[in-house]
Amino acid sequence: MNYLSTRGGMSGIAFRDAVLTGMARDGGLLLPETIPDVSRKLMSWKNLPYEELAFEIMRLYADIPEDDLRRLIHKSYSVFRDPEVTPVRKVGDVHILELFHGPTLAFKDVALQFLGNLFDYSLAERKEEMNILAATSGDTGSAAIHGVRGLKRVRIFVMHPYGKVSKTQERQMTTVLDKNVFNIAVQGSFDDCQQIMKTIFNDLAFKDRYSLGAVNSINWARLLAQIVYYFYAAFRVMKTTGKTRIRFSVPTGNFGDIFAGYLATKMGLPVAKLVLATNENDILARFFNTGDYSIGHVRPTISPSMDIQIASNFERYLYYRLNCDPKRLSALMKDFQSCGSLKVVRPSGGSVDEIFAAGAGNTDETLDTIRNYYETYGYLLDPHSAVGVAVGTRFMNSAEPTICLATAHPAKFSEAIIHATGKNVATHPLINDLEGLPTRCEILPSSVKAVSEYVERKISDARVQDCE
Ligand SMILES: *Cc1c(COP(=O)(O)O)cnc(C)c1O
Repeated sequence: MNYLSTRGGMSGIAFRDAVLTGMARDGGLLLPETIPDVSRKLMSWKNLPYEELAFEIMRLYADIPEDDLRRLIHKSYSVFRDPEVTPVRKVGDVHILELFHGPTLAFKDVALQFLGNLFDYSLAERKEEMNILAATSGDTGSAAIHGVRGLKRVRIFVMHPYGKVSKTQERQMTTVLDKNVFNIAVQGSFDDCQQIMKTIFNDLAFKDRYSLGAVNSINWARLLAQIVYYFYAAFRVMKTTGKTRIRFSVPTGNFGDIFAGYLATKMGLPVAKLVLATNENDILARFFNTGDYSIGHVRPTISPSMDIQIASNFERYLYYRLNCDPKRLSALMKDFQSCGSLKVVRPSGGSVDEIFAAGAGNTDETLDTIRNYYETYGYLLDPHSAVGVAVGTRFMNSAEPTICLATAHPAKFSEAIIHATGKNVATHPLINDLEGLPTRCEILPSSVKAVSEYVERKISDARVQDCE
């Protein structure tokens, strides 16, 4: 499978190049040239264990020798703490797809474990190395660190705003002492961290000299890894309920996770609805209800990983929506960049897109949902997953079971759980064990110079060590 850019400036890109490049050079995002139709394979796939299903799906998109691909998949998913990798549980009227059994207890592990191993594999082949620079407000950073820790050809530098991430998130990052991992606490805000990152990436000479790479949510391999669990969960629920069509409810921020569900649907998985659930930062819900996509201000909520205004993967959806016409897409994105909003026409009285239903869940509903599921079913939802359940249950249909994606373990957000239930019931040994572990982190002023000099120094130290 080859890849092309949504803006039309690149095509014929090989899978491994698409993964190492991340973003297309024309400012667009990369997509496969075709989406394979797998409708005829569903019967033979439906009982496959997770890793085998992942192999069948990924081989359609990834030109990697079969044995190598199997090995990469096994290396990525054998570290998950549940033998099913992403198990599905029936809770009340919904089915919960638990995506949080990876090393950092968040669904981003599903993608980043695979991406880290894939980077290492592709770099080894080319005898190259990569230095990842990332900015995080919490979750992505720790999943990325755990995805690449200990790898020989990859170093990772992760900036987080000093004192502004939760204690748990901070410890999940700074207790990783592998020598290829560098945590930087920037004395500024998350936006400052992102600004520093962008400035450094825009220094092309610096970027080339140090082979800088990114792990942000636009990397195609992350989406690919996420397609798998839509198939896996749908097969399990179709089997236990005897139903032939499924609904998914997905708590959404960057439109990555739900876009993977959209791709699964395009591949032929019988999905009746994709319910898009946002918190108060509801730009995407507004879009699917009105056709109007316009940025507001980010409001901090108890589901911080969804506190996003510009959804970086949305452009990929628009590309399909505009019938794969890169010219129209480029024009639309240009308008969006200049005026902060864009509109799509919607058939009169009709919905923006039949496959999507969308809604926002506010803080009170989220807390109520957590409390209700705990008191009624003894099941704890983290605040992100609770948004998905709150919105998903608004669009229920008895003929089509609903699968709600649970994107984080509740123990990662224990303060919200205490707030909702009045009890400190969300715990996990992995998080308790972080207490008292040694940490390593460099505190730096909020300045491009301070960060780039630190990165340079650490890379040259490491190169000297490697030669000795
Ligand atoms: C990142 C994240 C989300 C949002 O996923 P997107 O792919 O950005 O839509 C939801 N929940 C949790 C816990 C996350 O970490």
